[in-house]
Amino acid sequence: MPINNLNTSISYLKGVGPSRADLLKKELGIHTFGDLVNFFPNRYLDRTQFFKINQIQQNTSEIQIIGKITDIRTVQQKKGSRLVATFIDETGTMELVWFRGVKWIKESLKINTPYVIFGKTNYFNGLYTMPHPEMELVADYKKSLRTAMQPVYPSTEKLTNKGISNRVVSKIIQNLFEDLQGNFQETLPNSILEKLKLISKKEALLNIHFPKKQELLTKAQIRLKFEELFFIQLQLIKKKLIRKSKIKGYNFEKVGKYFNEFYKQHLPFDLTNAQKKVIKEIRKDLGSNAQMNRLLQGDVGSGKTIVALLTLLIALDNGFQAAFMAPTEILATQHYNSIVELLDGMNVTVKLLTGSTKTKERKLLHEQLQSGELQILIGTHALIEDKVQFKNLGIAIIDEQHRFGVEQRAKMWKKNELPPHILVMTATPIPRTLAMSVYGDLDISVIDELPPGRKEVKTAHRYDANRLSVFKFLKEEIAKGRQVYVVYPLINESEAMDYKDLMDGYESITREFPKPKYQVSIVHGKMKAEDKDFEMQRFQKGETQIMVATTVIEVGVNIPNASVMVIESAERFGLSQLHQLRGRVGRGADQSYCILMTSFKLSSDAKIRLNTMVDTSDGFKIAEVDLKLRGPGNLMGTQQSGVLNLRIADIIKDSQLLKTARSIAMDLLSVDPNLSLPENKHTKHAFLEISKNSTIWANIS
Ligand code: ADP
Ligand code: MG
Repeated sequence: MPINNLNTSISYLKGVGPSRADLLKKELGIHTFGDLVNFFPNRYLDRTQFFKINQIQQNTSEIQIIGKITDIRTVQQKKGSRLVATFIDETGTMELVWFRGVKWIKESLKINTPYVIFGKTNYFNGLYTMPHPEMELVADYKKSLRTAMQPVYPSTEKLTNKGISNRVVSKIIQNLFEDLQGNFQETLPNSILEKLKLISKKEALLNIHFPKKQELLTKAQIRLKFEELFFIQLQLIKKKLIRKSKIKGYNFEKVGKYFNEFYKQHLPFDLTNAQKKVIKEIRKDLGSNAQMNRLLQGDVGSGKTIVALLTLLIALDNGFQAAFMAPTEILATQHYNSIVELLDGMNVTVKLLTGSTKTKERKLLHEQLQSGELQILIGTHALIEDKVQFKNLGIAIIDEQHRFGVEQRAKMWKKNELPPHILVMTATPIPRTLAMSVYGDLDISVIDELPPGRKEVKTAHRYDANRLSVFKFLKEEIAKGRQVYVVYPLINESEAMDYKDLMDGYESITREFPKPKYQVSIVHGKMKAEDKDFEMQRFQKGETQIMVATTVIEVGVNIPNASVMVIESAERFGLSQLHQLRGRVGRGADQSYCILMTSFKLSSDAKIRLNTMVDTSDGFKIAEVDLKLRGPGNLMGTQQSGVLNLRIADIIKDSQLLKTARSIAMDLLSVDPNLSLPENKHTKHAFLEISKNSTIWANIS
C-alpha cells in the first residue's frame, strides 16, 4: 500500500479499482487523490430541512422525510413489474415506487427500520408517491459525513450508464477524506487568511464536499475561489516581473527627428488627451531597457492608427526598422495607404507586403529589408514568413490582435538577437476583469476617448417586413451624397446558403437601386483579391453609392463618407461583431445610421443583443453584455488563453474577489518577490506545483 499523499493514483482508493479509475480518468480527468480532492460539486441539494408526510404539497420539489417502510409488494404491469413500498411517519402514509432494479431493491429494503428518504414526489389517486427515492438508514445517515447540503458532482452520460452515480462519487470522496484524515497543507500565508477572514484549506475542502450548512458552504466557496484566483494572479504578475527584469529589450533612448518632424509639421489634427497619455506610456516602455509587451485597447474609431505611426517613428529615430501587421489584406493595404499619406513629404521608406505582392517586387523588398534601406514594413501574415528577414527589427505592431495567436507573436521574436518591442492593438474592448485574468501579464493602455466632433451613430432595429421604408431612407441619404454599406452574414466561408442570401440581396438591391442613377459594389470572400480591391476602391472614391458585402469589411475599413450601415440578418451576428460593423460608419462629419434588419423570429439572446446595440455605443458596456451572454471562453482572443478553465471561480460573478486577489498578490510579491520568507513557504510550494501544470506559464512568449 503506497503512502497516502495527493499524488497517489485513485486506483488505490477504496471503492475505486482499475475499471472505475479508468473511467474517472477518461471522463473527468481525475487521476490522483489530489484531482479528486479538487473535484468540486457544481451544486448542492438542500437537505437541511425535513418534511412530514402531511406537509407535502403538489408543488413541493425535492424533499426528505424520515419514516419507516411497513409493507413491500410487487405489482405486475404491462412491461415487467413495479415495486411499491408503503412508507409512513407519525403524520401520514405515502408510497415509494421503483420501476428498475426491482428484485435487488426488494431484497435490500428493511421493514420497520427508520430511513431518511429523499426525492421528488408525485400526487396520484389521493396519495403521494416518490419514485426511485434516495434512501439511507437513519443510523448510517447520522454517522455519514454526507449530511445536510448534498453535493451534486459534474458527471457524464457514460459515467451514469456505468453505474458511477452521484452517490457513488460522493461515497468515493468520503472514503478519500477518511483516508487522508484531513491532511491538507495550507497554501495561503496566515496574514492573508487573517486579513480576509478566510477559513483554512482543510476546513474549506471539508465543507465544499460535505457542507453542514449553507453558511459554511459559502465560506468554503469564498476561500477556494479566492485561492484559485490568487494563484492565477501570482503567476501573471510574476511572469510580468520576470519579463521586466530579465527580458532585455532594445533601449530606444531618444525621440528624434522623425517623430518630431512628423509631430510638428505633419500631424493632421490635435491628438486627444487619451492618445497623448497612451503615447507617453509607450515611450516610457521603449526607453526602459526591458522589452515592451503592451496591449492597446481603443474602441473603433478612437484613433489607434496615429498612435501606431508615432510609435513606429520612435523606432526609426533609434536606427531600427519597424513592422506593422494586420489580419487581412484589405486592412493592411488601408494602413499602408493612410500611413503613406500621413508621411507625405517626409523621407521615410515604407512598403507593403501581402499574399498578393508580386515575386519581382517581393525580391526587391527582401533585399531592402536586409540592407536596412526599408524602414517600415506593413503587411499581413506574410510578414512572419521565414524568408522575411529584417536587418534590425525594433518593434512590431499587431493590429486587431484577436486574429493572431501567441505562437505568431512568438515568431516575431526569432527575427533578431533581442526580442522586438510588441504593441498589440485591439478594438474589441475587453472588460477589465477579463483583461486582468487573461492579459494580466501584459501592460494595458486604453484610449478611452473618441476624437472630438464625432456624432453618435443612430441605431435602429427594423423587421424585414419594413424593408421598403428602409430602402426609401437609403435613397434619401444617397441623395444627400452619402454612401451605404449593406452587410450580409457569412459566418462560414463555405456556407452555400449564406452566398445565396448575399447574391439574392445583391440582386434585389440592384433592382431597387437601378443604374445609371445608382452604382452598387459587391465584395465577398470568394472574390480574387484584386477584384475585391477594385470594388473597394470604386466605393472609396465615391463611384459607387452602395457596398454590398459580407463581413470582410468587418475590421478597420475607413471611408468617412459612408454614413449608413445596414446589417442583414443581424440576429446571426455576435455583439462584438455588430459593434465592429457599426464602427465602419460615423467616421465623417455627418450624422450616421446603423440599421439592424431581422425577421420576427428572435431568440431571447438575440433580442438582448439587438437592444444593447440600439441602447448604447459604448464598446466596454457592449463587451460586458457579450461576456454575460456568451461566457468568457467565447470572447475573441481568449480561446487560446487557457486561463479561463477555472475550477470554481467565475470571472463575471466573482469579479470583486478577482480584484482583491490581484491586489493581495501584488502586495505579497512586492514584499517577497521570490516567496522566500519562511511564512510564505507553503504558498511557494503550492505556486510551484500549480505553475508546473499551468498553461499560463507555457504561453510565455
Ligand atoms: P481606430 O482606432 O478604429 O483604428 P483610426 O485610427 O482609423 O481608428 O481613426 C479613425 C478616424 O479618426 C480616422 O479618420 C483618423 O484620421 C481620425 N482621428 C484619429 N485621431 C484623431 C484626432 N485626435 N482628432 C481628429 N481625428 C482623429
Ligand atoms: Mg484601426
